[in-house]
Parts: sequence; C-alpha cells; structure tokens
Amino acid sequence: MIPPEFDYAAPDSLDEAIQLLGQAGDDAKLLAGGHSLLPLMKLRFAAPSMLIDLRKIDGLKGIQSGNGDGTRIGALTTHAMVQESDLGLPAAAAKQIADQQVRNRGTIGGSLAHGDPASDWPAVLLAMDGSVTARGANGERSIAAAELFQDYLTTALADDEVITDVRLPSMDGYGHAYLKFARRAEDWAMVGVAALVRVQDGSFADVRIGLTHMGTTPLRATQVEQALAGQPVEASRISAAAEAAAEGTDPPGDLNATPHYKRHLARVLVRRAVEQAAGL
Ligand code: FAD
Repeated sequence: MIPPEFDYAAPDSLDEAIQLLGQAGDDAKLLAGGHSLLPLMKLRFAAPSMLIDLRKIDGLKGIQSGNGDGTRIGALTTHAMVQESDLGLPAAAAKQIADQQVRNRGTIGGSLAHGDPASDWPAVLLAMDGSVTARGANGERSIAAAELFQDYLTTALADDEVITDVRLPSMDGYGHAYLKFARRAEDWAMVGVAALVRVQDGSFADVRIGLTHMGTTPLRATQVEQALAGQPVEASRISAAAEAAAEGTDPPGDLNATPHYKRHLARVLVRRAVEQAAGL
C-alpha cells in the first residue's frame, strides 16, 4: 500500500522541529521509528501533510542513570537499546515488544506519544510512576504517566509538543516482572502485566501493577495493590488478591480475545507476575 503524498523535513535541532510543527499546524506529524505511523499512513488511516523526522537531532537518544536521580531515556532510544540495558522492568518489557526488527527501529518516545493501550511501554511507565518531558513553543513541561494517557491513541501532548525524554525513578530494592499473553510469539499483547514489588521483613512494603490492553488507556490494578500492601508474601494471599485484577477495567474485545477472556487473563497474569516479582 502506498501512503498519500506528504512533505518531509529532517531538521537539525529541536527548536527547528518545534518551529516546523507550529508552522505546519495539526496536520504535521513527527516521525521517529515510523513503526506505528507509517503502517497507519499506508492503510490511509492517517494522512499527515508533512512529516518532521527527528533522526538528525542530537541528544534525543541514549540512557543515563545514576546520582540517585533515577533514569533518563532519550525519546529516540530504541526498544532494542532498552532491551540491552540493565534497567530491570523496562528491559524485561522491551524484550517482549514484537520482533528484533521492530525493536531496532521503534522508539520509546514514539510508542508513548502514540498512546496505544495494546503497546507495552505505557503500562510500564504507569507502574513505575514515570513521566515524559515535553518541549513545545511555550517551553518545557513534565507530564506524569497518570496524566499522559487520556483515551485510545490520545495523550495529553499538545500538537506542537515533542517528547524529549522519559524519566523513571530509581527502583532499587524492587523485584519486577513483565508478563504478556499473545496468540503467537512476538504478537501484540492480548493482556500484559507489569509488576513491581518491594518486600520488607517478609511482607509487601509496596506493590505496583500496570495493565496493558485492559481499557482505552493503560491502567493500574489498584485493588490488588491495596489488598497486598502490608501483607505477608504468601502464594495464597497473592492468589486471592489477584482475583480483583480486572476490577475497574473495560477491556476491548477483538479477534484474539473477548473482554471476558481478557479479564481471566488479567487475573492469571497478575498472580504470576506478582509471584515472580516477589521471587516465589
Ligand atoms: P512512530 O511510528 O514514528 O510515531 C508514532 C506516533 O508518535 C506518531 O504520531 C508520531 O508523530 C509520534 N511521535 C513519535 N516520536 C515522538 C516524539 N518524540 N514526541 C512526540 N510525538 C512523537 N509495540 C509494542 O509496544 N508491542 C508490540 O508487541 C508491538 N508489535 C509491533 C509489531 C509490528 C509488526 C509493528 C510494525 C509495530 C509493533 N509495535 C509494538 C509498535 C512499535 O513498538 C512502534 O515502534 C512504536 O509503537 C512507535 O514508535 P516509533 O518510534 O516507531 O514511532
């Protein structure tokens, strides 16, 4: 399939990209890895009049950790780069995104800006209480994960804003797991679960669970988190708490799974993810 015609620019600086975005209006689109945008254009679900390619802009790629400030991941950092990092939950999730070719091109910033609840980064960012930094004509701001995802393919980013990086707090002392259920290896998640747990003296001091593809946005399994907080780390308690994993969700049915089946998957995967993160 051939996309409709569009203009193309590859600016050398972020300021130039933001200026071009402002001039072209809401018809223009940023281009990162192109692995969500270009398929949409080829199917003619999207027809931007201009593509502004971010690839020549310095400083948007790479991972910096340390100094107790958590981690900064540049927006153009590919899934493959995170997969090869020592970043715990993010690396575990990145490994499960599609196949190596997609991971070599797709970027963390592009995935978060796209806001697809079936993609894997949003639930990870939400579970970690991370944020993105967005720069636009009116300056720079930080958008917390809980504010970023507003609806299906809809984020809090303004039309002229570029995600420059992703910020993740330090998760020292946390166990993690990212479990994803798909019909075939390397498919999109029917349901995915990002779990982070901190155990102190045999009890859960903190439990965070992000859900992939259980609604129009990524969600937290708040009821499970609350049920486990302060409780001893025991398989029977995890299993009982995980029964509430689908509370407050509204999973979309599709060719692969009905909403009922997705709720079942959420309960099973949450139990397994928490057990794994807690080292059981
Ligand atoms: P692009 O396609 O370039 O852009 C996506 C959107 O984000 C566009 O609207 C663009 O304008 C905007 N954008 C891009 N960068 C920025 C920025 N810095 N600031 C603001 N807006 C920006 N993903 C998963 O999570 N899990 C999967 O299992 C999975 N399977 C896939 C299988 C296939 C076959 C393919 C083709 C893709 C799959 N993906 C999957 C999606 C893939 O991870 C994409 O790469 C990712 O979702 C988008 O990143 P991108 O860099 O390609 O963004």
